[in-house]
Amino acid sequence: MDLDAALAVLAEEGAPNYRADQVRQAVSRDFIDSWDEASTLPKGLRTALEERAPIHELVLEEEQRAKDGTVKARFSTSDGFPAEAVLMRSKDRYTVCLSSQSGCALKCAFCATGTMGLGRSLTKGEIYEQLLWAARTARKSDARIRNVVMMGMGEPLQNLDNVLGFCHLANDPDGFGLGARSIAISTAGWLPGIDALIEEPMQVKLAISLHAPDDVLRTELMPVNKRYPIAELMKTLKRYRTATRRRVYVEYLLLDQVNDRVEQAERLADLLHEHLPGGHHVNLIWYNPTGSGLNASAPERVERFQAILEKRRIPFTLRRSKGSDIDAACGQLAVKGAAAAARAAKRAERETA
Ligand code: SAH
Repeated sequence: MDLDAALAVLAEEGAPNYRADQVRQAVSRDFIDSWDEASTLPKGLRTALEERAPIHELVLEEEQRAKDGTVKARFSTSDGFPAEAVLMRSKDRYTVCLSSQSGCALKCAFCATGTMGLGRSLTKGEIYEQLLWAARTARKSDARIRNVVMMGMGEPLQNLDNVLGFCHLANDPDGFGLGARSIAISTAGWLPGIDALIEEPMQVKLAISLHAPDDVLRTELMPVNKRYPIAELMKTLKRYRTATRRRVYVEYLLLDQVNDRVEQAERLADLLHEHLPGGHHVNLIWYNPTGSGLNASAPERVERFQAILEKRRIPFTLRRSKGSDIDAACGQLAVKGAAAAARAAKRAERETA
């Protein structure tokens, strides 16, 4: 649902100004399921909106519920690309994890989404619609969305215009009203995007998926590191920190015998103290199996890693992901073969046209 498109329809139809507030209210506060439910609007306007700014651009293909209450939605775009969103609850807080692209081009070794390849980037409306789904679902248990993380499928900084467009829609105080600080954008280290965020006045959070403290290992795990190695990344993050004064969240997946050694914890601490002094927070992430051949660190190795960070005075949180029994956890979002199938279908369509 592209709210900006709906507001443009109002202008085209010559609707009076107050209609804009009614539309914002209906879409972003009442979470209407179709324009017919927007009873404050005249019928003719509802029809125009239905035709030119439909509430549902995405088709909800499937909803799965995990034992811990996590809900995963699988959508498809009107041209057949899959996208997934995950709604998570901890105590009375709801967090939703959104996809910025269908599939992903970056092919990180530990992540299932990379095996799909990139289908296409999602529009801001397609991203916003995932949030509206989450808000509707949370409402059923009288809850609201507190946090949004762009940690579903895709590399958000390779789709920055749409991701920022989405953030503006979510942040609109007359609309959804989510604080900018409640939105986190997570990147594998796409530096042009970080540079662009330096110029962005909206105070969204930035998370960087680091996962290894040296170039040899990081390139092995994350091919993007070949293009943007750690030294460049750290220089860019330092510039980001200096310009915005915002904290940088560093994601570090603990992989058994791969990146969880004592020297690696020390090296991680060195990097952060050197380049982001006082401006970092590490999220240690429990690895979710994806068939990659990698394993989650043994508990005693996790403890040792944490002990070193503690000793080095690096603030950190250990995160266990949710929803792993329905493949809804970090790195498990992949619809096998679907993106390739959708591309093939499109090609076939073009050829017969
Ligand atoms: N492309 C962006 C956002 C998507 S991934 C990025 O790389 O940050 C969101 C987070 O999930 C990242 O920190 C990613 O590294 C992590 N992740 C990927 N695969 C995982 C897995 N199998 N288990 C746990 N976390 C994983």
